[in-house]
Amino acid sequence: MTRVLILGGTCEARALAAGLEPAGDIEVVSSLAGRVREPLLPSGQVRVGGFGGVDGLVRWLGDNRVDLIVDATHPFAARMTQNAAEAAARVGVPMVALQRPGWLGAEREGWTAVDDVESAAAVLPQLGTRAFLTIGRQGVHAFAGLDALWFLVRAIDPPEGPVPPNSELIFARGPFTVGAETALIRRHRIDVLVTKDSGGQATAAKLDAAAALAIPVLLVRRPTLPPGIEVVDDVAGAVSWIESIT
Ligand code: NAP
Repeated sequence: MTRVLILGGTCEARALAAGLEPAGDIEVVSSLAGRVREPLLPSGQVRVGGFGGVDGLVRWLGDNRVDLIVDATHPFAARMTQNAAEAAARVGVPMVALQRPGWLGAEREGWTAVDDVESAAAVLPQLGTRAFLTIGRQGVHAFAGLDALWFLVRAIDPPEGPVPPNSELIFARGPFTVGAETALIRRHRIDVLVTKDSGGQATAAKLDAAAALAIPVLLVRRPTLPPGIEVVDDVAGAVSWIESIT
């Protein structure tokens, strides 16, 4: 029996767990950080909560006899990926990162890319005055000082820390449609969209809506992956990687 740890929190992680579960010779345990109030749970075994840094993860991998790790965390969950790469190297467990391609790979007219949310906040006033902020719950605080702008802030759960003074919060989880995104942007007279380069189909409709309405898009680039890490870009790639090792 091969025990696979899937570091989750993404739809790819759930799809991988569901795909591997029926295989008789593979046992899957998915790990969630436990930050979202009502998480979508993967099928099969699930554990929830941080491991306690690299040392904690090293202990957990030994205690739970893990043979392989698939880091299927969100592309912006850089700390978890770094910790997993270090822990995997320390205990000699093979690891692959499953990361869907970013949207910036097919850059469009009207897009501006910056390295982090602080840079996005610095550039934003040059691009618009009514922003649709779709960077999730984390990082919203970077925009809290922009009191001359109005924000529509969308996240699954309430943002961490201060929010911009002129803002409306909406809670929603994708997938979203182009029609609904276009209507939302129109209704709030949005003139700039801010997003992370998360990639994937579930939340891509806002990009099509912005293009249709000729609204500029400000994208935060992904953090860089730890050096030397093996990467696959879809669930099938992760399954092939597992099969190549077992
Ligand atoms: P992060 O900054 O990379 O990680 C911070 C800490 O949270 C880690 O050091 C670890 O704590 C714990 N952690 C993160 N992912 C974990 C997991 N799958 N299982 C157990 N512990 C985990 O992570 P984040 O950006 O806050 O993301 C948290 C979770 O939300 C991830 O599972 C990610 O896939 C998901 N998510 C993130 C985003 C995003 O934009 N960042 C978007 C959608 C979903 P210890 O050091 O104590 O082990």
